[in-house]
Amino acid sequence: MKDTGMIRSLDSLGRIVVPVEIRLTRNIDIGDPIEFFILDEKIIVLRKYTSTECTFCRSLDHVTYYKDQFICNNCLKELGDPERDPGQPEPVHNAIVEAPEHSNLRRTKTEQMSQRLEQAIADHPFANQKELAEVLGISQARVSQLKRRLGSTNRP
Ligand SMILES: [Zn+2]
Repeated sequence: MKDTGMIRSLDSLGRIVVPVEIRLTRNIDIGDPIEFFILDEKIIVLRKYTSTECTFCRSLDHVTYYKDQFICNNCLKELGDPERDPGQPEPVHNAIVEAPEHSNLRRTKTEQMSQRLEQAIADHPFANQKELAEVLGISQARVSQLKRRLGSTNRP
């Protein structure tokens, strides 16, 4: 364990200030939830709380951790099934509703963007959806939609 040499006193309400140097280097913003861990009788550890809710549907049930994302069993199943019934349509599904006469063109565009996304993921293996969206100049919803598409076509 690294000693930061920083000491802060509890105030009258039992509050403590997390030094700005730590907040900046650990990417903790005002309002972020902080988790407490008890290491032993004398040591308490603080950590920025990472929610374990599903990236796609916000469910907290049966969540699996994969490549820096949490995914629930239902969404995992959907990802693996290209013929799935989307059930309650989300806004993202409206984006892929195609007029029949344009379907070939739209499909080609989707194909191209999928390839660009695959390349972007290869170039930035640790980028999250937001960062990938910025790299490609498309919306996060679009990245999510393309990722699902890649997930279903890459599956054996
Ligand atoms: Zn889910």
